[in-house]
Amino acid sequence: MPMTETKTNCVEDGAGAQAVRFPDRDLGRAGDAARGATLVVIGGVHGNEPAGLIAGQRVLDRIAREHDEDLQGQVVLLAGNLAALNHADADIRYVDHDLNRLCTDDRFAEPSSTTVEHQQMHELFELLGSIHESCKLSNQRMIVLDLHTTSAPSKPVVAFEDSLPARKHAMRMPCPKYLGIEEEVQGLVIDAVTRRLGCVSYLIEGGQHEDPVSVDVHEAAIWIAMDTAGILPLSSLDADPIGFLRSMSKGRGDTVFDVRHREPIRDADFAILDGIESGTRVHADKTVIAMQGGMEVHSPIHGSVFLPNMQTHKRIGDDGFFIVRQISAGWVNLSARLRNADWVHHVIGVMPGVYHAQDSMLLVDADLACVLRRQVFHLFGYRLVRHDERQGGEGFERFLNGLKAFFKALGRGPIRGADGKGPDAEDERFWIVQRRRLDR
Ligand SMILES: [Zn+2]
Repeated sequence: MPMTETKTNCVEDGAGAQAVRFPDRDLGRAGDAARGATLVVIGGVHGNEPAGLIAGQRVLDRIAREHDEDLQGQVVLLAGNLAALNHADADIRYVDHDLNRLCTDDRFAEPSSTTVEHQQMHELFELLGSIHESCKLSNQRMIVLDLHTTSAPSKPVVAFEDSLPARKHAMRMPCPKYLGIEEEVQGLVIDAVTRRLGCVSYLIEGGQHEDPVSVDVHEAAIWIAMDTAGILPLSSLDADPIGFLRSMSKGRGDTVFDVRHREPIRDADFAILDGIESGTRVHADKTVIAMQGGMEVHSPIHGSVFLPNMQTHKRIGDDGFFIVRQISAGWVNLSARLRNADWVHHVIGVMPGVYHAQDSMLLVDADLACVLRRQVFHLFGYRLVRHDERQGGEGFERFLNGLKAFFKALGRGPIRGADGKGPDAEDERFWIVQRRRLDR
């Protein structure tokens, strides 16, 4: 029997998001895991971003009132970084570590007692793991939606690892899509969900932290995610979440971008320049994007600014900004067709400068890899597991660099590492790429 349980409540009061407190990580559930997919909604992975949890609570309340018997599956609402959400300083993003940069295999190997966020990470993934186990017992899927807000004013966007199963869910959101963020930043919660549990996982940036519209955006995203997962059709609502999100995206609802560069903060006085915001176009080495330590900060490549850091609290090593480029709908469709073709992966595997390593990873000559990085590897569904800052050049120069690297690799004799087969995985002359887990 489906039943909505909201055992704890995040209270939305007149003082707005700042007054919200979260006594428990497991904030409520609706539906029945045996009847269909489970959608896990995570909010507050950053302490100053409670909008996703307020939206999740609204959805659970509405289900309890109107749809309790209708769900074909389950919705679960989880708080991400409880310690930061409940911190005395409501502006705090994290206590010791950014939880959304911590979730790497190395950090999982460290005990809960290491830092505040290690404990948050272990608790969150223990809970996700047990929810996933109960889904598997019923032979059902688990999908994770991670809801965030931004320090700067911004329109809603969705970010995800570009596997074909993840596309089925994330591409339905009528807002700009960003691919490849997991290659530029390590330790994302959504990335750990996919790598450790094998589940589709995607992230929404709903708008600015304090803007009440961010809660509406997240609520719309949850209803759309439930529809995509087959839990509750949108037709059973009197609202129009797709139309609402599309109107928020101002005609850019079908655009797709590739994250090409991350600029870390190197000095605590890092400040984004006035007039620079998400979407501002920049020229390589010319446009001044920020100032830090009395120096101008530029981008090494041209493109548009994404997620400029305007947090009140900034620390060295945090993301300063990202640079993205738009990719065409044709590229996205071609990529879906090509990566399903076995011969494509065979051809990549026998190219000069490409060597097979363990766990279906490929070692690729760095001079060749930096030219092919987005155009070829992304197209065919390969993820950059280890890479460096090399960009490969622009336009015709890039083409020439690619030819040079190709013939250099073709002319070079066999490379023998310690095991006498290919190069060693530690050899830094090579980048490591791997087919996306959910595509394999
Ligand atoms: Zn966030």
